[in-house]
Amino acid sequence: MATERTLSIIKPDATRRNLTGKINAKFEDAGLRIVAQKRIHLTEAQARTFYKVHADRPFYEELCTFMASEPVVVQVLEGDNAIAKNREVMGATNPADADAGTIRAEFAESVGENSVHGSDAPETARDEISYFFSGLELVG
Ligand code: ADP
Repeated sequence: MATERTLSIIKPDATRRNLTGKINAKFEDAGLRIVAQKRIHLTEAQARTFYKVHADRPFYEELCTFMASEPVVVQVLEGDNAIAKNREVMGATNPADADAGTIRAEFAESVGENSVHGSDAPETARDEISYFFSGLELVG
């Protein structure tokens, strides 16, 4: 299996409810290592740039306003097949469809305010990690 890195974000609905530790425990229990992590408050402009791939979707404005509403925790997770593994641990986008035991099933409030983001492919992971972190900040 390939060791990969993926970009994770603990979203404002979760930081507001003090769930960072509980969510990190889910990653670590699944064998993902947190090799970089910081708490930041995104500006609207930063949120819009990060989610520009969704610019044409009807929920784009709502998503960007939400992501800039309160602090987030951005992190890099490392492990075997980390990209797919993380998405498994996150669960489906809509918490109503998420498998039991996943982060979104346990913590998400709605399809929009769904507690976590995770990169969806190797190229996206590379781009998203470099949006938030320099190489020096990744400590494996
Ligand atoms: P995922 O985060 O599971 O990869 P998407 O890439 O489809 O899902 O969407 C990105 C984010 O946009 C979601 O995590 C969620 O916060 C938001 N979103 C997606 N679909 C909707 C929707 N129908 N209504 C509101 N927000 C949505």
